[in-house]
Amino acid sequence: MKKIAILGCTGSIGRQTLDIVRSNPTEYQITGLSCGTNAVELGAAAREFGCFRLGIADKNKYAELKELCPKAEIYCGDAALTAVSDYADVVVVAVVGMIGLKAVLYALSKGKTVALANKESLVAGGKLVTDALKNGGKLCPVDSEHSAVWQCLRGEKSFKRIILTASGGPFYFTDKSKLDGVTPEQAVAHPNWNMGKKISVDSATMMNKGLEIIEARWLFDTTEIDYVIHPESIVHSMVEFDDGSIKAQAGFPDMRLPIRYAIDYPEHSRRDYTPLALPLELRFLPPDENKFPAPALARHAIEKGGNTSIVLNAANEAAVRLFLEGKIKFPDIIKIVEKAVCTEPLSQVKNEYDVYQTHNRVYSKIYLDNRG
Ligand code: MG
Repeated sequence: MKKIAILGCTGSIGRQTLDIVRSNPTEYQITGLSCGTNAVELGAAAREFGCFRLGIADKNKYAELKELCPKAEIYCGDAALTAVSDYADVVVVAVVGMIGLKAVLYALSKGKTVALANKESLVAGGKLVTDALKNGGKLCPVDSEHSAVWQCLRGEKSFKRIILTASGGPFYFTDKSKLDGVTPEQAVAHPNWNMGKKISVDSATMMNKGLEIIEARWLFDTTEIDYVIHPESIVHSMVEFDDGSIKAQAGFPDMRLPIRYAIDYPEHSRRDYTPLALPLELRFLPPDENKFPAPALARHAIEKGGNTSIVLNAANEAAVRLFLEGKIKFPDIIKIVEKAVCTEPLSQVKNEYDVYQTHNRVYSKIYLDNRG
């Protein structure tokens, strides 16, 4: 039985991971669960899966959780991201935000397999995370695009370039002049994937693809990364080889597939799934970086190196929050990120402290400067 800890078990990926365990109770055992603040949902999951090692980031929820699960060992604050994974073989890191880095570095330092669904840890701490792999741990991407690339690269010795696919979000076909009037409600309504608010806005601005380009740089150790717009989200990404051959990985857009692949790697385990309905019409369209400059900014961040990806990520996080709070317009999100990436001084990142220090400084500065 594979032992699994889920950090961020009340979010979209966390719930779908629990769903996989629920459908395959003889294959997996949940040995740790944590979340940010939702004690009620965490308590219910703990009881359902018989898990007694729990973490809740919000210390104020300790008493509530203890009452729901009197026998459980409960960790709060940072320990909710670390101690909770101690008895697991596979740690699913599905928390949102920079705190994911702490969880990933801890699990890798213990030589565990990390099923990674947190973007920020690689975007902001890519070098630290890849260095931490020296301890014998394994990094298995959960994001559908990176999972696709990973699957395409199996058995291959070298490749020419990665071609990520992007749905284009809800506004790929919208005229640029109309983007000014986009509301938070429109931005979070993604056509193909059901995701959290932050990532849905990132998908609408195409920053999601930008962040994925940076992640791919660290996961696959290359800067040869392009992307195409593929509105159907059936082909999850491709890899081109030196002879011109292109491998693509495809499937119905259902995150349970890449989650399970990350947990069961290298097996494609048997599962119930929705077969692709035929006929299928697939489009591959060129990106429009005049309308959506975020991926170009991400490439710039990779080239500039040092702390630039941290700055980009922090500025984006603050700007998305400002947009969701109705304080800035949709196109301002990327304008704010661009300004930060171009004006913040370049510095080197030596450790976890540097990452958090830069992130917090840029995030607060941008949030406070723009909240009105
Ligand atoms: Mg993705």
